[in-house]
Amino acid sequence: MFSEKNGLKNHLKALQAKSKSIGFVPTMGALHDGHISLMKKALIDNDHLIVSIFVNPTQFNNAEDLAKYPRKPQKDLDFIKSKLKMKNITVYLPDVDNVYGENVVSRDYNFNGLEHEMEGTNRPGHFDGVGTVLEFFFKLIEPNRAYFGEKDFQQLKIVEKLVEILNLNIKIIGCPIERENTGLARSSRNQRLSDKSRITAAKIYQSLLLVKEIYDSNHPLKVTEIIEEVYKKESDLTLEYFVIAHEDSLKPVEIIDDSTTGLRAFIVVHIDGVRLIDNLKLS
Ligand code: AMP
Repeated sequence: MFSEKNGLKNHLKALQAKSKSIGFVPTMGALHDGHISLMKKALIDNDHLIVSIFVNPTQFNNAEDLAKYPRKPQKDLDFIKSKLKMKNITVYLPDVDNVYGENVVSRDYNFNGLEHEMEGTNRPGHFDGVGTVLEFFFKLIEPNRAYFGEKDFQQLKIVEKLVEILNLNIKIIGCPIERENTGLARSSRNQRLSDKSRITAAKIYQSLLLVKEIYDSNHPLKVTEIIEEVYKKESDLTLEYFVIAHEDSLKPVEIIDDSTTGLRAFIVVHIDGVRLIDNLKLS
């Protein structure tokens, strides 16, 4: 485990000298089986895995959300050890100063419009924060491959764009969403839910399954209307946004016909003061 970038850099040099391929899984900690699925994939594809655990302040536009984000580094380390053999794994656990120095600010990126859709309109500056911290990690670690969950599908698309813009030789690998038995997407934020809310939150996935059933026989606006109605009846769940969008451009779909492919439904719902994000591939 390294908490300091110079120590990590020396360790990486030794690995690279032995021509070891490196997979990288960036996380914000409060680890769960969704994170572990990314690590397992990285260990299959590469000789060595670097996992970062860092709650990145510049990607939060809400101070309360940042303050409440669960931070349990020792528990995280124990969790990784309980799930995986540590022989080929290095954990990087820096503090804010080690990543940013004194200037805790984001760079400005142009992600070709991807940053203005969905999370972009609802979390201003979020993707500049994501880009800034990942640029730092990518240039420090120089991994062969980096792994991202489809749970944050927009982030996955933006990271692909970031690597293209920066002309980095890193393969970005998207990994499927891991769900709890109820269908609720695994998330660090689920820890903040009461038992009751955790059961209610399973309705988010159910509503996405409903979309999958009806999207090709209804106009997208009608589907949105139906989903809004579903959430109006749920007093504990508040819909922030729902959209059916093209996977490549992330732009909302306007019309669906037999030839339309590459669609995904995206949703954000609040419950108990916790913001939950999910999506489902439709076609
Ligand atoms: P986070 O710690 O929330 O920043 O997530 C770190 C990485 O794990 C991101 O690439 C996420 O998309 C991914 N991830 C989080 N939850 C899941 C999940 N339920 N299934 C698959 N990947 C996930």
